[in-house]
Amino acid sequence: MFKAEDIRKDFPILKREVNGKPLVYFDNAATSQTPQQVIDTIVDYYSNYNANIHRGVHTLSQEATDKYEQARLKIQAHFNAKHAHEIILTSGTTHSINIVASGFTSLLKAGDEIIVSALEHHSNIVPWQMLCERTGAILKVIPMNQDGELLMETYDNLLSKKTKLVFVNHISNALGTINPIEYIIEKAHQVGAAVLIDGAQACPHIKIDVQELDVDFYVASAHKMCGPTGVGMLYGKEALLKILPPYQGGGEMIAEVTFEKTTYADLPHKFEAGTPNICGGIAFGAAIDYMNTIGIGTIASYENELLEYATKKLLEIEGLKIYGTSKRKTSVISFNLEGIHPYDVGSILDKLGIAVRTGHHCAQPIMNFYNIPGTVRASIAFYNTKNEIDILVEGVIKAKHMLL
Ligand code: PMP
Repeated sequence: MFKAEDIRKDFPILKREVNGKPLVYFDNAATSQTPQQVIDTIVDYYSNYNANIHRGVHTLSQEATDKYEQARLKIQAHFNAKHAHEIILTSGTTHSINIVASGFTSLLKAGDEIIVSALEHHSNIVPWQMLCERTGAILKVIPMNQDGELLMETYDNLLSKKTKLVFVNHISNALGTINPIEYIIEKAHQVGAAVLIDGAQACPHIKIDVQELDVDFYVASAHKMCGPTGVGMLYGKEALLKILPPYQGGGEMIAEVTFEKTTYADLPHKFEAGTPNICGGIAFGAAIDYMNTIGIGTIASYENELLEYATKKLLEIEGLKIYGTSKRKTSVISFNLEGIHPYDVGSILDKLGIAVRTGHHCAQPIMNFYNIPGTVRASIAFYNTKNEIDILVEGVIKAKHMLL
């Protein structure tokens, strides 16, 4: 039986105080906290087998290589990729997106079209704009409605034989909307376009099966799912990764180097130039093990319970407006108090030991759509409790009284 109170014991940071108050951590969409099991993996790596991988004959190097490649297998199994070499270990979602955006430079021509959505994080907008600048391709945007949902009819009309790529996040980090990616993928494939799904916010909350989705590229960051920062993954279908040129040149990614010509290594190494974040990759595997011992299904249903409870309680506060009111949403509550700047609310909450994020959440087009400078964002993880939501609600009421 899942009990958040028991799970919390795995997270040493949750025992600390902030400004003399017990920490209440609701900034999980920015980064999740790290359980002792993952911390132990990091300590074990640096204490016992820290070595560079793939090239060494010595024992430490072989141990590190084995563990790193085992982590790749865990990631492969977790996302249900067909082959381990379809998992490229990167420094995170942003890096993964840039590998694909950079690779498509030689595959697009002027007048080709690429589609993003109005709900994207800047890291799923800017690399495509840069790609358009390099190639003369045209960027089209799937618009959203007031509930924070993408307009699928307009999407249907945007698609044509000119569409080469479609990029959408699975779950919006700013609003929590779960996008209809199954439909988006199917429709894009009908016109022969490839699809990249940004799963940075989805991977901690829902089960992802890249084969069932039939998605071409799927990207994620370990630090959103109880792993360390600076590591993430790019899943790509083998056939596409083979066509895509390498992103960076360097060691590890070559088959043979002469001054006349260099040939590239096979997948996944073609995209893994230089010494990777070895410890981070191994710890990513440990984070996946940890989340799977609880079970993504259990996590999702508990978080939904918390989301419903928090939404109901916060809406009881007069003058509080929630942005992102789709029925298909998870884990994020973005809100404002009428007449009060989100930054001021966040600062008072911090004094009370409550960590939320304020601002545009790297999604300025969404803020422009609602014509607001930003929101206060409380984002939920499975180690949060109803008691913490009560503390948050009390804090917001206090902030409102102090600031009005
Ligand atoms: N996309 C989404 C939806 C995100 O939430 C984030 C992180 N906030 C990113 C991309 C970028 O992830 P990272 O900073 O780990 O590269």
